[in-house]
Amino acid sequence: MLTVRRSGFMRRLIDRFGRLHNNLRISVTDRCNIRCFYCMPADNVEFMPKSHLLTFEEIERIVRVGTTLGIDRIRLTGGEPLVRRDLHVLVQRLASVPGIIDIGLTTNGILLDEQAQLLKDSGLKRLNISLDALDPDVFKAVTRRDGYERVLAGIEAARVAGFSPIKLNAVSVRGLTEDQIVPFGHLARETETVVRFIEFMPLDADGQWQRDKVLFAHEIIAILESEFGPLRPVVAESGTVDAKNPLAIIGNTITHAPAQDYEFADGRGRIGLIASVSQPFCASCNRFRVTADGKFRNCLFSHEETDVKTMLRSGGTDDEIAELMLECIAAKNEGHEINSSKFIQPDRPMYSIGG
Ligand code: SAM
Ligand code: SF4
Repeated sequence: MLTVRRSGFMRRLIDRFGRLHNNLRISVTDRCNIRCFYCMPADNVEFMPKSHLLTFEEIERIVRVGTTLGIDRIRLTGGEPLVRRDLHVLVQRLASVPGIIDIGLTTNGILLDEQAQLLKDSGLKRLNISLDALDPDVFKAVTRRDGYERVLAGIEAARVAGFSPIKLNAVSVRGLTEDQIVPFGHLARETETVVRFIEFMPLDADGQWQRDKVLFAHEIIAILESEFGPLRPVVAESGTVDAKNPLAIIGNTITHAPAQDYEFADGRGRIGLIASVSQPFCASCNRFRVTADGKFRNCLFSHEETDVKTMLRSGGTDDEIAELMLECIAAKNEGHEINSSKFIQPDRPMYSIGG
Protein backbone atom coordinates (compact mmCIF):
# COMPACT_ATOMS: atom_id res chain seq x y z
CA MET A 1 0.00 0.00 0.00
CA LEU A 2 1.42 3.36 -1.02
CA THR A 3 1.68 5.83 1.85
CA VAL A 4 3.71 8.73 0.49
CA ARG A 5 3.32 11.75 2.77
CA ARG A 6 1.69 14.84 1.36
CA SER A 7 2.24 18.28 2.70
CA GLY A 8 -0.66 20.19 1.20
CA PHE A 9 0.47 19.66 -2.38
CA MET A 10 1.93 16.81 -4.35
CA ARG A 11 5.69 16.47 -4.01
CA ARG A 12 7.58 16.53 -7.27
CA LEU A 13 11.05 15.63 -8.46
CA ILE A 14 12.21 19.22 -8.86
CA ASP A 15 15.91 20.00 -8.50
CA ARG A 16 17.79 23.11 -7.30
CA PHE A 17 17.61 24.56 -10.80
CA GLY A 18 13.85 24.21 -11.11
CA ARG A 19 13.93 21.25 -13.47
CA LEU A 20 10.96 18.94 -13.14
CA HIS A 21 11.76 15.27 -13.69
CA ASN A 22 8.92 13.20 -15.10
CA ASN A 23 10.92 10.81 -17.26
CA LEU A 24 12.33 7.64 -15.69
CA ARG A 25 14.92 5.66 -17.65
CA ILE A 26 15.14 2.12 -16.39
CA SER A 27 18.05 -0.12 -17.24
CA VAL A 28 16.94 -3.75 -17.13
CA THR A 29 20.33 -5.39 -17.73
CA ASP A 30 23.97 -4.60 -18.40
CA ARG A 31 24.29 -7.58 -20.75
CA CYS A 32 24.45 -7.12 -24.48
CA ASN A 33 24.72 -9.26 -27.60
CA ILE A 34 27.11 -6.88 -29.42
CA ARG A 35 30.08 -4.76 -28.32
CA CYS A 36 29.84 -1.18 -29.64
CA PHE A 37 33.25 0.38 -29.08
CA TYR A 38 31.78 3.63 -27.67
CA CYS A 39 29.97 1.74 -24.93
CA MET A 40 31.47 -1.64 -24.00
CA PRO A 41 34.83 -3.37 -23.94
CA ALA A 42 35.42 -5.75 -26.88
CA ASP A 43 35.86 -8.86 -24.73
CA ASN A 44 35.98 -10.21 -21.18
CA VAL A 45 33.15 -8.07 -19.88
CA GLU A 46 32.27 -8.69 -16.26
CA PHE A 47 28.51 -8.55 -16.02
CA MET A 48 26.49 -8.05 -12.87
CA PRO A 49 25.47 -11.29 -11.18
CA LYS A 50 21.80 -12.00 -11.96
CA SER A 51 20.89 -11.75 -8.26
CA HIS A 52 21.99 -8.10 -8.34
CA LEU A 53 19.47 -7.18 -11.01
CA LEU A 54 16.26 -5.56 -9.87
CA THR A 55 13.35 -7.96 -10.28
CA PHE A 56 10.26 -6.96 -12.26
CA GLU A 57 8.40 -6.56 -8.93
CA GLU A 58 11.09 -4.18 -7.65
CA ILE A 59 11.08 -2.15 -10.86
CA GLU A 60 7.30 -1.89 -10.76
CA ARG A 61 7.43 -0.71 -7.17
CA ILE A 62 9.92 2.03 -8.03
CA VAL A 63 7.65 3.12 -10.88
CA ARG A 64 4.57 3.19 -8.65
CA VAL A 65 6.39 5.34 -6.10
CA GLY A 66 7.75 7.50 -8.93
CA THR A 67 4.26 8.27 -10.18
CA THR A 68 3.45 9.83 -6.81
CA LEU A 69 6.32 12.27 -7.47
CA GLY A 70 5.27 13.08 -11.02
CA ILE A 71 6.94 10.36 -13.11
CA ASP A 72 4.65 9.68 -16.06
CA ARG A 73 6.97 8.39 -18.81
CA ILE A 74 9.32 5.48 -18.88
CA ARG A 75 12.04 4.28 -21.19
CA LEU A 76 13.49 0.80 -20.87
CA THR A 77 17.12 0.47 -21.80
CA GLY A 78 20.34 -1.33 -20.90
CA GLY A 79 22.71 -3.01 -21.89
CA GLU A 80 20.47 -4.57 -24.45
CA PRO A 81 16.98 -4.70 -22.91
CA LEU A 82 15.75 -7.46 -25.23
CA VAL A 83 18.20 -9.96 -23.74
CA ARG A 84 16.32 -9.72 -20.44
CA ARG A 85 14.03 -12.72 -20.35
CA ASP A 86 10.29 -12.00 -20.66
CA LEU A 87 10.74 -8.27 -21.04
CA HIS A 88 7.23 -8.01 -22.44
CA VAL A 89 5.90 -9.07 -19.04
CA LEU A 90 7.61 -6.04 -17.48
CA VAL A 91 6.12 -3.83 -20.20
CA GLN A 92 2.66 -5.20 -19.40
CA ARG A 93 3.14 -4.56 -15.69
CA LEU A 94 4.39 -1.01 -16.17
CA ALA A 95 1.72 -0.17 -18.73
CA SER A 96 -0.91 -0.94 -16.11
CA VAL A 97 0.56 1.39 -13.47
CA PRO A 98 -1.86 4.31 -13.05
CA GLY A 99 -0.21 7.57 -14.08
CA ILE A 100 2.15 6.08 -16.66
CA ILE A 101 1.21 7.56 -20.02
CA ASP A 102 4.14 6.48 -22.15
CA ILE A 103 6.54 3.54 -22.32
CA GLY A 104 9.45 3.53 -24.77
CA LEU A 105 12.32 1.17 -25.42
CA THR A 106 15.79 1.67 -26.85
CA THR A 107 17.24 -1.44 -28.47
CA ASN A 108 19.96 -2.51 -30.85
CA GLY A 109 17.24 -4.38 -32.75
CA ILE A 110 19.00 -7.74 -32.97
CA LEU A 111 16.25 -9.61 -31.12
CA LEU A 112 13.43 -7.38 -32.28
CA ASP A 113 12.30 -9.61 -35.12
CA GLU A 114 11.01 -12.14 -32.60
CA GLN A 115 9.73 -9.66 -29.99
CA ALA A 116 8.32 -6.59 -31.78
CA GLN A 117 4.70 -7.76 -31.97
CA LEU A 118 4.71 -9.09 -28.40
CA LEU A 119 6.08 -5.80 -27.10
CA LYS A 120 3.50 -3.81 -29.04
CA ASP A 121 0.69 -6.00 -27.73
CA SER A 122 2.05 -5.61 -24.19
CA GLY A 123 1.70 -1.83 -24.27
CA LEU A 124 5.02 -0.55 -25.59
CA LYS A 125 4.34 2.78 -27.31
CA ARG A 126 7.64 3.96 -28.71
CA LEU A 127 10.72 2.31 -30.09
CA ASN A 128 14.19 3.65 -30.82
CA ILE A 129 16.47 1.30 -32.71
CA SER A 130 20.20 1.92 -32.71
CA LEU A 131 21.94 1.53 -36.04
CA ASP A 132 25.08 3.53 -36.70
CA ALA A 133 25.72 2.47 -40.27
CA LEU A 134 23.90 1.27 -43.35
CA ASP A 135 27.11 -0.29 -44.61
CA PRO A 136 27.54 -3.77 -43.03
CA ASP A 137 31.33 -3.37 -42.79
CA VAL A 138 31.02 -0.14 -40.84
CA PHE A 139 28.36 -1.77 -38.66
CA LYS A 140 30.85 -4.51 -37.85
CA ALA A 141 33.65 -2.03 -37.18
CA VAL A 142 31.44 -0.27 -34.61
CA THR A 143 29.79 -3.27 -32.98
CA ARG A 144 32.63 -5.79 -33.29
CA ARG A 145 30.01 -8.45 -33.86
CA ASP A 146 27.79 -9.75 -36.66
CA GLY A 147 24.12 -8.91 -36.67
CA TYR A 148 23.50 -6.27 -39.32
CA GLU A 149 20.91 -8.36 -41.20
CA ARG A 150 19.11 -9.15 -37.96
CA VAL A 151 18.82 -5.45 -37.13
CA LEU A 152 17.27 -4.82 -40.55
CA ALA A 153 14.83 -7.69 -39.91
CA GLY A 154 14.06 -6.15 -36.51
CA ILE A 155 13.31 -2.76 -38.05
CA GLU A 156 10.94 -4.40 -40.53
CA ALA A 157 9.25 -6.38 -37.75
CA ALA A 158 8.76 -3.14 -35.81
CA ARG A 159 7.16 -1.53 -38.85
CA VAL A 160 4.85 -4.52 -39.38
CA ALA A 161 3.91 -4.48 -35.67
CA GLY A 162 2.73 -0.90 -36.11
CA PHE A 163 5.39 1.18 -34.34
CA SER A 164 5.31 4.61 -35.93
CA PRO A 165 7.37 6.60 -36.38
CA ILE A 166 10.36 4.32 -36.03
CA LYS A 167 13.36 6.25 -34.82
CA LEU A 168 16.88 5.14 -35.58
CA ASN A 169 19.72 6.28 -33.32
CA ALA A 170 23.06 6.65 -35.11
CA VAL A 171 26.11 7.59 -33.06
CA SER A 172 28.37 9.74 -35.21
CA VAL A 173 32.12 9.30 -34.99
CA ARG A 174 34.72 11.26 -36.89
CA GLY A 175 36.76 9.16 -39.27
CA LEU A 176 34.23 6.34 -39.20
CA THR A 177 30.64 7.32 -39.96
CA GLU A 178 30.82 10.40 -42.21
CA ASP A 179 30.02 8.24 -45.26
CA GLN A 180 26.86 6.94 -43.61
CA ILE A 181 25.18 10.31 -43.23
CA VAL A 182 23.95 10.79 -46.80
CA PRO A 183 22.64 7.20 -47.08
CA PHE A 184 20.75 7.77 -43.81
CA GLY A 185 19.39 11.00 -45.31
CA HIS A 186 18.04 9.01 -48.26
CA LEU A 187 16.53 6.44 -45.91
CA ALA A 188 14.77 9.17 -43.93
CA ARG A 189 13.39 10.66 -47.15
CA GLU A 190 12.26 7.39 -48.66
CA THR A 191 10.67 5.79 -45.59
CA GLU A 192 8.79 6.93 -42.52
CA THR A 193 11.98 6.51 -40.48
CA VAL A 194 13.32 9.38 -38.38
CA VAL A 195 17.10 9.11 -38.22
CA ARG A 196 18.67 10.77 -35.19
CA PHE A 197 22.39 11.40 -35.22
CA ILE A 198 23.97 11.38 -31.76
CA GLU A 199 27.29 12.99 -30.92
CA PHE A 200 29.76 10.49 -29.45
CA MET A 201 29.89 11.08 -25.68
CA PRO A 202 32.66 10.21 -23.20
CA LEU A 203 31.00 7.10 -21.80
CA ASP A 204 33.00 4.35 -23.49
CA ALA A 205 34.39 1.51 -21.43
CA ASP A 206 37.92 1.80 -22.82
CA GLY A 207 38.34 5.51 -22.03
CA GLN A 208 39.23 6.18 -25.67
CA TRP A 209 36.87 9.13 -26.14
CA GLN A 210 38.53 12.25 -27.44
CA ARG A 211 36.89 15.45 -28.47
CA ASP A 212 38.36 15.22 -31.95
CA LYS A 213 36.49 11.93 -32.49
CA VAL A 214 33.15 13.68 -32.09
CA LEU A 215 31.46 14.38 -35.38
CA PHE A 216 29.59 17.51 -34.42
CA ALA A 217 25.96 18.20 -35.23
CA HIS A 218 26.76 21.27 -37.33
CA GLU A 219 29.10 19.15 -39.46
CA ILE A 220 26.41 16.53 -39.97
CA ILE A 221 23.99 19.25 -41.05
CA ALA A 222 26.57 20.59 -43.50
CA ILE A 223 27.04 17.11 -45.04
CA LEU A 224 23.27 16.65 -45.39
CA GLU A 225 22.72 20.14 -46.81
CA SER A 226 25.44 19.68 -49.41
CA GLU A 227 23.52 16.65 -50.72
CA PHE A 228 19.88 17.59 -50.13
CA GLY A 229 19.77 21.37 -49.88
CA PRO A 230 18.74 23.44 -46.85
CA LEU A 231 17.34 21.78 -43.75
CA ARG A 232 14.54 23.46 -41.83
CA PRO A 233 14.46 23.19 -38.02
CA VAL A 234 11.19 21.78 -36.76
CA VAL A 235 10.01 23.93 -33.90
CA ALA A 236 8.40 22.07 -31.03
CA GLU A 237 5.23 23.46 -29.53
CA SER A 238 5.97 26.59 -27.47
CA GLY A 239 9.58 26.51 -28.66
CA THR A 240 11.43 29.17 -30.58
CA VAL A 241 14.57 28.81 -32.62
CA ASP A 242 17.56 31.11 -32.23
CA ALA A 243 18.26 32.06 -35.86
CA LYS A 244 22.00 32.45 -35.19
CA ASN A 245 22.17 29.09 -33.56
CA PRO A 246 19.48 26.81 -34.97
CA LEU A 247 20.54 23.90 -32.79
CA ALA A 248 19.48 25.75 -29.68
CA ILE A 249 15.80 25.65 -28.91
CA ILE A 250 14.69 28.23 -26.40
CA GLY A 251 11.65 27.73 -24.24
CA ASN A 252 10.91 24.20 -25.31
CA THR A 253 9.06 23.34 -22.15
CA ILE A 254 6.75 20.81 -23.73
CA THR A 255 8.92 18.01 -25.11
CA HIS A 256 12.26 18.26 -23.27
CA ALA A 257 13.43 16.17 -26.19
CA PRO A 258 17.20 16.10 -26.55
CA ALA A 259 16.87 15.88 -30.34
CA GLN A 260 16.43 18.89 -32.54
CA ASP A 261 14.50 17.68 -35.56
CA TYR A 262 14.94 19.03 -39.08
CA GLU A 263 12.87 18.68 -42.22
CA PHE A 264 14.29 18.68 -45.70
CA ALA A 265 13.32 21.78 -47.67
CA ASP A 266 10.84 19.90 -49.88
CA GLY A 267 9.09 18.54 -46.76
CA ARG A 268 10.04 14.90 -47.50
CA GLY A 269 11.65 13.20 -44.53
CA ARG A 270 12.88 14.19 -41.12
CA ILE A 271 16.17 13.80 -39.30
CA GLY A 272 17.21 14.66 -35.73
CA LEU A 273 20.42 15.85 -34.13
CA ILE A 274 21.31 15.01 -30.53
CA ALA A 275 24.14 17.42 -29.90
CA SER A 276 24.96 16.24 -26.38
CA VAL A 277 28.53 17.52 -26.59
CA SER A 278 28.37 20.67 -28.72
CA GLN A 279 24.93 21.88 -27.54
CA PRO A 280 24.24 20.25 -24.16
CA PHE A 281 20.55 20.14 -23.29
CA CYS A 282 21.11 19.93 -19.52
CA ALA A 283 19.01 23.05 -18.90
CA SER A 284 15.85 21.22 -19.95
CA CYS A 285 16.78 17.76 -18.66
CA ASN A 286 13.80 15.91 -17.20
CA ARG A 287 15.45 12.49 -16.82
CA PHE A 288 15.91 10.39 -13.75
CA ARG A 289 17.58 6.99 -13.95
CA VAL A 290 17.71 3.68 -12.22
CA THR A 291 20.46 1.22 -13.08
CA ALA A 292 19.91 -2.51 -13.53
CA ASP A 293 21.53 -3.12 -10.14
CA GLY A 294 19.23 -0.70 -8.37
CA LYS A 295 21.06 2.62 -8.13
CA PHE A 296 19.29 5.93 -8.64
CA ARG A 297 21.26 8.36 -10.80
CA ASN A 298 20.37 11.96 -11.50
CA CYS A 299 22.59 12.21 -14.60
CA LEU A 300 24.44 9.98 -17.07
CA PHE A 301 27.63 11.77 -16.05
CA SER A 302 27.06 11.72 -12.31
CA HIS A 303 29.83 10.42 -10.02
CA GLU A 304 27.39 9.60 -7.26
CA GLU A 305 24.47 7.27 -7.11
CA THR A 306 21.93 6.28 -4.49
CA ASP A 307 21.37 2.66 -3.57
CA VAL A 308 17.67 1.82 -3.69
CA LYS A 309 18.07 -1.96 -4.03
CA THR A 310 19.22 -2.38 -0.43
CA MET A 311 16.22 -0.39 0.74
CA LEU A 312 13.88 -2.46 -1.43
CA ARG A 313 15.33 -5.69 -0.06
CA SER A 314 15.38 -4.68 3.59
CA GLY A 315 11.79 -3.65 4.15
CA GLY A 316 12.00 0.03 3.14
CA THR A 317 8.63 1.77 2.91
CA ASP A 318 7.28 3.54 -0.16
CA ASP A 319 7.74 6.81 1.69
CA GLU A 320 11.42 6.03 2.26
CA ILE A 321 11.90 5.16 -1.41
CA ALA A 322 10.24 8.44 -2.39
CA GLU A 323 12.57 10.32 -0.01
CA LEU A 324 15.56 8.63 -1.64
CA MET A 325 14.41 9.79 -5.08
CA LEU A 326 13.88 13.33 -3.85
CA GLU A 327 17.32 13.40 -2.22
CA CYS A 328 18.98 12.14 -5.39
CA ILE A 329 17.26 14.82 -7.49
CA ALA A 330 18.10 17.52 -4.93
CA ALA A 331 21.80 16.68 -5.44
CA LYS A 332 21.70 17.01 -9.23
CA ASN A 333 24.35 19.25 -10.79
CA GLU A 334 23.53 21.99 -13.24
CA GLY A 335 25.21 20.30 -16.21
CA HIS A 336 27.59 17.61 -17.37
CA GLU A 337 30.71 19.77 -17.89
CA ILE A 338 31.96 17.72 -20.87
CA ASN A 339 33.23 20.97 -22.34
CA SER A 340 35.09 22.03 -19.23
CA SER A 341 38.66 21.17 -18.22
CA LYS A 342 37.16 19.93 -14.93
CA PHE A 343 35.30 17.10 -16.68
CA ILE A 344 36.01 13.59 -15.39
CA GLN A 345 34.47 10.61 -17.17
CA PRO A 346 32.26 8.55 -14.85
CA ASP A 347 33.61 5.17 -13.72
CA ARG A 348 30.63 3.37 -15.14
CA PRO A 349 30.48 3.13 -18.93
CA MET A 350 27.24 3.53 -20.84
CA TYR A 351 26.19 -0.14 -20.89
CA SER A 352 26.47 -0.33 -17.11
CA ILE A 353 24.53 2.89 -16.43
CA GLY A 354 21.83 2.43 -19.06
CA GLY A 355 21.72 4.76 -22.03
N1 SAM B 1 21.49 -1.60 -26.32
C1 SAM B 1 20.51 -0.64 -26.63
C2 SAM B 1 20.88 0.17 -27.83
O1 SAM B 1 22.05 0.15 -28.22
O2 SAM B 1 20.00 0.83 -28.38
C3 SAM B 1 20.14 0.28 -25.49
C4 SAM B 1 21.27 0.78 -24.64
S1 SAM B 1 22.37 1.88 -25.46
C5 SAM B 1 23.48 2.23 -24.17
C6 SAM B 1 21.36 3.33 -25.64
C7 SAM B 1 21.82 4.33 -26.66
O3 SAM B 1 23.02 4.92 -26.22
C8 SAM B 1 22.10 3.74 -28.03
O4 SAM B 1 21.41 4.48 -29.01
C9 SAM B 1 23.59 3.91 -28.18
O5 SAM B 1 23.95 4.11 -29.52
C10 SAM B 1 23.84 5.13 -27.34
N2 SAM B 1 25.23 5.24 -26.87
C11 SAM B 1 25.95 4.31 -26.23
N3 SAM B 1 27.17 4.78 -25.93
C12 SAM B 1 27.23 6.05 -26.41
C13 SAM B 1 28.23 7.06 -26.40
N4 SAM B 1 29.43 6.86 -25.86
N5 SAM B 1 27.92 8.24 -26.98
C14 SAM B 1 26.71 8.45 -27.54
N6 SAM B 1 25.72 7.55 -27.54
C15 SAM B 1 25.97 6.35 -27.00
FE1 SF4 C 1 25.12 -2.94 -26.52
FE2 SF4 C 1 23.62 -0.77 -26.85
FE3 SF4 C 1 26.06 -0.59 -25.74
FE4 SF4 C 1 25.87 -1.18 -28.32
S1 SF4 C 1 25.21 0.73 -27.33
S2 SF4 C 1 27.18 -2.22 -26.81
S3 SF4 C 1 24.02 -2.34 -28.38
S4 SF4 C 1 24.32 -1.61 -24.89
